[in-house]
Amino acid sequence: MKYYQPEIECASPEQIRAWQDERLVAQVRHVYDNVPYYRNLMQEKGVTPDDIKGRDDLYKLPFLTKSDLRDAYPYGLLAVPTSECVRIHSTSGTTGKRVVAFYTQEDIDLWDDCCARAIVAAGGTKEDVCQVAYGFGLFTGGAGLNGGSHKVGCLTLPMSSGNTERQIQFMQDLHSTIICCTPSYAAYIGETVKEMGIKPEELDLKAGIFGAEPWTEEMRRDIEASLGLKAYDIYGLTETSGPGVAFECCEQKGMHINEDHFIAEIIDPETGEVLPDGEKGELVFTSITKKAFPLLRYRTRDICVLNRTPCSCGRTHVRMSKPMGRSDDMLIIRGVNVFPSQIETVLLEKGYSPNYQILVDRVKNNDTLDINVELSPEQFSDTVKEISAGEAALANDIKTVLGINPKIHLVAPKSITRSEGKAVRVIDKRKLHD
Ligand code: ADP
Ligand code: ZN
Repeated sequence: MKYYQPEIECASPEQIRAWQDERLVAQVRHVYDNVPYYRNLMQEKGVTPDDIKGRDDLYKLPFLTKSDLRDAYPYGLLAVPTSECVRIHSTSGTTGKRVVAFYTQEDIDLWDDCCARAIVAAGGTKEDVCQVAYGFGLFTGGAGLNGGSHKVGCLTLPMSSGNTERQIQFMQDLHSTIICCTPSYAAYIGETVKEMGIKPEELDLKAGIFGAEPWTEEMRRDIEASLGLKAYDIYGLTETSGPGVAFECCEQKGMHINEDHFIAEIIDPETGEVLPDGEKGELVFTSITKKAFPLLRYRTRDICVLNRTPCSCGRTHVRMSKPMGRSDDMLIIRGVNVFPSQIETVLLEKGYSPNYQILVDRVKNNDTLDINVELSPEQFSDTVKEISAGEAALANDIKTVLGINPKIHLVAPKSITRSEGKAVRVIDKRKLHD
């Protein structure tokens, strides 16, 4: 099985446009009629549903932001009666107060289809044993991949995250072939596999479906080696349903966005102006099929690039590049823009572990950047001289990339807390002083 829904995933661009035009028109009407909060935004902008005749008119609609979701919490953006809803999920709250999203049964069905497409694109079939080690609960990761795995017909292990030794035990006993979790948790599982004296080739894993947080190509190679699998990226956010909005195919050159359900735009985050395909900017989504929580022009704050060149996998839906962090993950240190992923790339290239922590502070009006980097037991050396030489070399490597000098602290194995969900890599103490 190459595709889960070939007639949709490989539809012609004209067909995709026709679906988007028709669904958008109906969705704008649905939202206008049922969501006073958004109707007000449209009225303020002087737009009516009659102005929206298709995808080309999308730019006329107002944006929604996370702060709108917080203002409208909890029911202000709900477009159907609660009696039609069967579930809620909530964001992980990585960047502030949580927001809640609602689902009808049909919304869940379509979401599960999106996740099923991702699993099949990673080589999944009904013969597979799929271990879902994303958290279950309000977080969308567990429920989304669990639903997708059922649709594909995999034997599904709804493990949730945590209890790592038991994860590995089940992986061995039940011969799991696919694992789904955050990349930082996959790295932790890989590390534990090694500590337990198990070789990657003793496991049956063939594919991993990792997402929900930014991760680098270096991290991908590390995980692939430690678990003996091919690692696929998956993207999504609670506001648009959850994981499965976009997923990687065998080509691994960007993630195909499920355009029969979402219209993607890239905008200039400063001016809100729509940018042409190929330019880097903030990703904006319009849900055209969701009924309960249909967000129009939702600003994700994720920075990426769209690519419409045909993909050799046969899928025709547009691809998005890996978001290397949200606009609000970006640190400004001594006036320089720094994404944590840039630091991760250097660390892994230089043979360090993906266990690190970035500490930013302000001392006497000067920003400070400290990076704690954990040594592996093999690297751990008790001669102070070697450690300080290693610290100086790494500081220099990072300075070459960032243009600013960090202070590196090579720390003992196991001294940085492992993540079972989304890793917390940055502690910005400046926010506490302000
Ligand atoms: P929160 O916003 O509280 O973290 P979510 O769990 O809904 O709540 O997280 C969605 C966000 O996670 C996305 O907007 C994006 O920043 C990040 N994300 C999800 N998948 C990926 C991925 N594959 N690569 C990079 N970032 C991702
Ligand atoms: Zn492809």
